[in-house]
Amino acid sequence: MRVIVVGAGVVGTMHAWHAIERGHEVVHIEREAEARGASVRNFGLVWVSGRAGGEELDTALRARELWEAIGERVPGLGFRANGSLTVLTDPAELAVAEAAAARPDAAARGYALLTAEETRAANPALRGSAVLGALHCERDAAVEPRVAQRALKDKLLESGRYTFLGGREVREITGERAVRDDHGDVHTADAVVLCTGAWLGGLVKELAPDLPVRRVRLQMMQTDPLGEALTTSVADADSFRYYPAYAGGALDAMAAARQQPPAAAEHRAQLLMVQRADGGLTIGDTHEYDAPFDFDVVEDPYEHLAGVVEGLLGRPLPTVRRRWAGVYAQCTDTARVVHRQRVRDGVWLVTGPGGRGMTCSPAIAERTANELGW
Ligand SMILES: Cc1cc2nc3c(=O)[nH]c(=O)nc-3n(C[C@H](O)[C@H](O)[C@H](O)COP(=O)(O)OP(=O)(O)OC[C@H]3O[C@@H](n4cnc5c(N)ncnc54)[C@H](O)[C@@H]3O)c2cc1C
Repeated sequence: MRVIVVGAGVVGTMHAWHAIERGHEVVHIEREAEARGASVRNFGLVWVSGRAGGEELDTALRARELWEAIGERVPGLGFRANGSLTVLTDPAELAVAEAAAARPDAAARGYALLTAEETRAANPALRGSAVLGALHCERDAAVEPRVAQRALKDKLLESGRYTFLGGREVREITGERAVRDDHGDVHTADAVVLCTGAWLGGLVKELAPDLPVRRVRLQMMQTDPLGEALTTSVADADSFRYYPAYAGGALDAMAAARQQPPAAAEHRAQLLMVQRADGGLTIGDTHEYDAPFDFDVVEDPYEHLAGVVEGLLGRPLPTVRRRWAGVYAQCTDTARVVHRQRVRDGVWLVTGPGGRGMTCSPAIAERTANELGW
């Protein structure tokens, strides 16, 4: 069987991965020379901790297994089972963590509540005096997003059944299971999967005009090396606001008990932080939902996040070297893990995994492969 995958982000690359694993031939078409969308701009967090119970958690846990197995075969993607600490600084935050740790699925996530001392033992870089404790999630992990797709691509090329066509935009579905690119070339296959991320106009709009998917823009930054290990990924308690696992009375009480600083509230900021292979810190993020999005990055949320990090580390932030923004596609029904739609005979669109796309993509692609009978 011959499969065409359009889009070389993590969703497309994982579809190519499963097709090659099952013995098929893949033609992978990407508009840019290499992936350039959300997949190379994200934290690289394989983030199980905040997932809604049920399908979302099951998908994330399955994906976590697949990432680990793939990481063993592709060391270049930088998989590490580093876990995460969501750091708690007051009793209202502690109550949200306690409610999470009492969930029936807490063991599956590897949740544990840590005291301040245990938090510092788990991650000695967290020297800030405000640290009261943390919610540990043992299942959380990380990869290196800027290189992961290319590392996977190099492995796929070894199969001899994988062709990567960069610098070609797919413009048209020309008939059954055939696409035309902007060089005028037509590519035919037994199945076509469009993994075009947050590019919802043009081709995608023609094929699926009423797509139940929206775009979300985030701001990010990266520092110089920290000079010591950040042994786990780190989140602040504002992150509880953005993940369904924490919804409930304790979170409502936390939100009522304390006002967020204006910059955090206005830009819907939460702290997520992970150490890169070079020792630098990737720090974010913000959430902007209303298009047209700003074309510039703004300083206020960065200042807020830098202050939060300095409070947790008990030291100044290393120099910030890079700031950028990224956009992901998210199902408007945020309980849906992904939007998978047959848009023509033999042509499928897979988009909208939202802020969990890096985490869930191996399992999302596995499900497509199973459903299409690859
Ligand atoms: C700042 C940021 C941080 C995030 N952090 C995390 C995280 O830590 N963990 C997590 O789980 N998720 C995270 N996410 C979400 C995650 O990054 C996305 O859900 C995921 O990367 C989406 O992958 P994708 O392959 O669908 O899209 P993309 O990575 O955007 O890839 C789509 C690709 O398709 C190509 N393309 C589009 N149209 C065409 C066409 N017509 N022809 C050819 N090629 C085309 C594009 O050039 C692009 O390379 C984050 C997102 C952002 C923006």
